[in-house]
Amino acid sequence: ERAALAEFRDAVPRRGDGTVIEVAANLGSLEEIDPAKAAGAMGVGLFRTELLFMRHAHLPSEDLQAETYATLAKAFAPWSVIIRTLDIGGDKPVAGIEFPDEENPFLGWRGIRMCLDRPDIFKTQLRALLRAAVHGNVKVMLPMVAEIAEVERTKVLIAECEAELAEAGVPTGRFELGVMIETPAAVLIAPQLARHVAFFSIGTNDLTQYVMAADRLHPAVAHLNDVTNPAVMAAIAMTARAATDAGIMVGMCGEAAGRADLIPEFVRLGLTELSMSPSSILRAKKTITELVPETPAD
Ligand code: PEP
Ligand code: MG
Repeated sequence: ERAALAEFRDAVPRRGDGTVIEVAANLGSLEEIDPAKAAGAMGVGLFRTELLFMRHAHLPSEDLQAETYATLAKAFAPWSVIIRTLDIGGDKPVAGIEFPDEENPFLGWRGIRMCLDRPDIFKTQLRALLRAAVHGNVKVMLPMVAEIAEVERTKVLIAECEAELAEAGVPTGRFELGVMIETPAAVLIAPQLARHVAFFSIGTNDLTQYVMAADRLHPAVAHLNDVTNPAVMAAIAMTARAATDAGIMVGMCGEAAGRADLIPEFVRLGLTELSMSPSSILRAKKTITELVPETPAD
């Protein structure tokens, strides 16, 4: 079984019309690069930057962040690396950010909401990303987006960062800006949102929790935390439709992306990138490869 899967390590799976389906890795640190490459990752579909912020006794500097993101980009070039901006809230403390006590941290001051209120922290990360973009195919993705205004405000900050770095003579690259689709609000405005971003990545972990109104960590409601619930699958289908209609890329980076039983449906809906834990990659590549209809013999 293991040997049979190994032959897919360098495979580039395509769907029936020839479009490449990128099977990428979800990573949280640079130590995971080599294992992910060995597992056949076609780039990174979610680099969680939280660990970089939680590891240190102070906020990571622009230089440290730029170096970290550049190392990641170089390791996977020419494949893309989708780096998610800081997605943290009151449930995960970080030295240097004071969080209020919250009754409902999953509904509170987290992700893009916190970043837009702390432009000092957010712009440091955005400048580091602009610098890293010189070294590979960097894409940037915003977590917990619920309104178009959050994307517009981020674009203003990116433009400010570009101007500041240009002024200082620091080389910068360009990156595509995308959003995670993980709030019901983002699903409901997906057709409009698609006109403001280069790609969507469906975060099924949070999308399931918010669509079903069921805490993803609460054992008593675990039965509702099911991506195959028709309500969640409808949200995924609506998102995919909005993206394909607008002609932007749509992928997935929640746990469901690695489920071999669901991958055929995700590909059918138009997803062209699936990002997962490295241990699921080979099986996912095999599953997609075997979807290709065989040419009828004559
Ligand atoms: C998600 O919500 O599906 C996701 C990928 O992000 P995280 O698990 O880091 O919240
Ligand atoms: Mg999430």
